[in-house]
Amino acid sequence: MKVSVLIAAAGKGERACQGQNKLFTKMGAYTVLHQTVGAFYSHERIDEIAVAVNPAEKEKVNEILQGIRESFHRSIPLFIVEGGETRTQTVKNGLAALHGDIVMIHDGARPFVSENLISRCILQTERVGSALPAIPPTDTIWGSSPTGISPLNRNSLLAVQTPQCFLLNDIRNAYACVGAESYTDDAAVYCKFFNTPHLIKGEEDNKKLTYPQDFCFAQNGRVGVGYDTHRLVENRKLILGGVEIPHTKGLLGHSDADVLCHAIMDALLSAAALPDIGHLFPDTDPKYEGADSAKLLSEVVRLVEEQGYRAVNVSAVICAQKPKLAPYLDKIIHNLANLIHISTNQVGITCTTTEGLGFIGREEGIACHASVLLART
Ligand code: MG
Repeated sequence: MKVSVLIAAAGKGERACQGQNKLFTKMGAYTVLHQTVGAFYSHERIDEIAVAVNPAEKEKVNEILQGIRESFHRSIPLFIVEGGETRTQTVKNGLAALHGDIVMIHDGARPFVSENLISRCILQTERVGSALPAIPPTDTIWGSSPTGISPLNRNSLLAVQTPQCFLLNDIRNAYACVGAESYTDDAAVYCKFFNTPHLIKGEEDNKKLTYPQDFCFAQNGRVGVGYDTHRLVENRKLILGGVEIPHTKGLLGHSDADVLCHAIMDALLSAAALPDIGHLFPDTDPKYEGADSAKLLSEVVRLVEEQGYRAVNVSAVICAQKPKLAPYLDKIIHNLANLIHISTNQVGITCTTTEGLGFIGREEGIACHASVLLART
């Protein structure tokens, strides 16, 4: 069977407060609309795609569609249809422009639809005539009515998603009956005027981007890396991650030379595009002589949080020939988690020797690599 796709992209998306159609918001290199349409464009079972848009946004959408044609190694009809006043009218107009046996109707604001879900919807529709992806709600849902509010039986509730998939003629016939009424989705129209749709398991990740916070994870994750090394000398304390470790030597530096804290600080600063620790805490400044790096790390965390970011996780590797660090790792992780305002399962520290090679292998110094992920608070 031939498969058509209709992407509903004519809404204003005002709840997202993006200052423009939310589908034009960038998720990394591409817009939300590019990702959504691209998910279908790249699927081998899809034969044509219509994108229903607000007439005033045709030019902008055309640019995005051209970008999609250039991104994928296949060529199928991909075109714009004009949306109507409501989603119901938009879909009705869009259905008239399609040629397949099956139609998948999908929200433009669901860019995370998977290849697997698309495939399953097509197969089920070929078999039984429809596919309505749904998942059980995780929240307890209450109903409100003029007589009061009460919890609904969660076992009887389903959160439905798109793509909603039907035989094109069936859903066209259902839409022919809608008149001026407005419906929240296509399955509601199908159910009222044709038949009960067949459910299929939806996907947790297939979220609809609706509110401003929905866009945070989509565009504001930032990674950072940091590296530091210090010389090992006698008559110095060895401090790693703010924890004093018994050893015959310690690290030399202007501060306490906590190489792990330093690498993590630079990773945090780098992720937030702030100046590095050399700029913030210069080793020419007597103020930082013998400084406790754990305190400096706290200051870095404060600066990063001031920029509107929080750490999601921190990962570091300590490169040291000696001493054995495994017995101290729990304490180091606990300490770092406290300093960075995350939990211990968000801190991963590994240790390695260099098999006797190089300055680390000769026990002349210790090095540390760190990476962090930040998210918008
Ligand atoms: Mg350093």
